[in-house]
Amino acid sequence: MFEIKEVEAKGPTKVITGATLIDGNGGKPLANPVIVIEGRRIKAVGQKGKVKIPPRAEVIDCKGLTLMPGMMDCHLHTMMFNCLTFHNYRVAQWEITPELQQMYGLFHAQLCFDMGFTTLRDLGLNTYRGLLTPHLCAVRDSINAGVVEGPRMFIGGFTTITGSHLDLIQPRAAQRLGFQTADGPWELRKLARTNLLAGCDVVKTCATGGGGTDKEEPDIRNMTQEEINAIVDEAHAFHKVAAVHCFTPNGHRMALEAGADTIEHMVFHDEEVIDMIADSHVWMTPTLLHRTDRAINTRKEQGTSMFVINKMKALQPYCFDTFQKMHKAGVKIAMGTDMGFDPEMGANACELEIYVKLGMKPMEAIQTATKNAAHLLKMERDLGTVEAGKFADIIAVKGDPLKDIRVLQEKKNIQIVMKEGRVYADRRAGHNMNVVNVNPGEWKMIDYL
Ligand SMILES: [Zn+2]
Repeated sequence: MFEIKEVEAKGPTKVITGATLIDGNGGKPLANPVIVIEGRRIKAVGQKGKVKIPPRAEVIDCKGLTLMPGMMDCHLHTMMFNCLTFHNYRVAQWEITPELQQMYGLFHAQLCFDMGFTTLRDLGLNTYRGLLTPHLCAVRDSINAGVVEGPRMFIGGFTTITGSHLDLIQPRAAQRLGFQTADGPWELRKLARTNLLAGCDVVKTCATGGGGTDKEEPDIRNMTQEEINAIVDEAHAFHKVAAVHCFTPNGHRMALEAGADTIEHMVFHDEEVIDMIADSHVWMTPTLLHRTDRAINTRKEQGTSMFVINKMKALQPYCFDTFQKMHKAGVKIAMGTDMGFDPEMGANACELEIYVKLGMKPMEAIQTATKNAAHLLKMERDLGTVEAGKFADIIAVKGDPLKDIRVLQEKKNIQIVMKEGRVYADRRAGHNMNVVNVNPGEWKMIDYL
């Protein structure tokens, strides 16, 4: 395939030393590791004494800490309505301009970054003022340009039919401005192209109903096969990928038939479709944090309708059961939370605790957020493991996540966050460098009422 070589910026040489390295490959952790970094990339990794430390290199001493690849959340929505700030679901939907929502998107991405998430795949949003694809792309691009500090981002653009699950993220009665939904293959191709023109990395669509929206059955069909085929084909024509929200086995079959790259959520299943997914190239994001009582209670406090609360509770056991069956069958799983306004931005790593509770080994759970996530993003050449040649996205953690996965949930334990060789957060003794100076859930609350 035709390839344009990027020009790699050279930078200073750095060396990280630590107590243990979980490199992301799933093998036994390496004791006394030394990681040599040149510019943005890892030059060498090995045991102390076996790797030459270049003279004049800056040494980052992570004594006593566990080193591991930067984590990735492959499904979240940083520009979801800011209910936690505004206390109220409706106020957050109606009182906020897209411009303010964009500022929150950046802030939310920074909260996740500070917690060790060096890469986020934001699967888009719409509002009564139009799709937020350009706003999300601008956050991604301003981070990449070095204008603001934040994680590496991949952006999804909503490409769905009228009245779809993703259309109903807005109130049913809201006026829809602009070109937000489309019907029929050609109109949907145009919507996909509009999102691609805005710069999205992922064309996001939905094949079925969903959980978090008012007056919508989760098992309805949201697209014809002809329509989903057109959307996926359009994404691929532009060398991009298609992510399909699916709640039902019929939705899974449609997504597989269309050649989708990722299937989002784990809700309902049948045995046949699990085997079909396990045998395919498709990666799935479980998004279980969004299904917990914690998430449901957050929704309740923000004034979400009882219909939605009851629906979320009713879906819960199906999601956990489907996860267990899919994991057992060998479905390719990469971590995704669906974090929007429940629970709070930055709590992403709580998703991994659920995987472990449902039967994954801690090492496997870590891999869903590192190596597997890199594969889902088709970035495995650059991301996902701590190996020579890859980007130096590395975090240093207090405690052993293989013994207790919950250590990844506390900011004080995420002692260093490095992205492409640069340290953005450093909370080791004697250091006090944060991306943002608040903890998740602790930022200023604005009461609009
Ligand atoms: Zn989502």
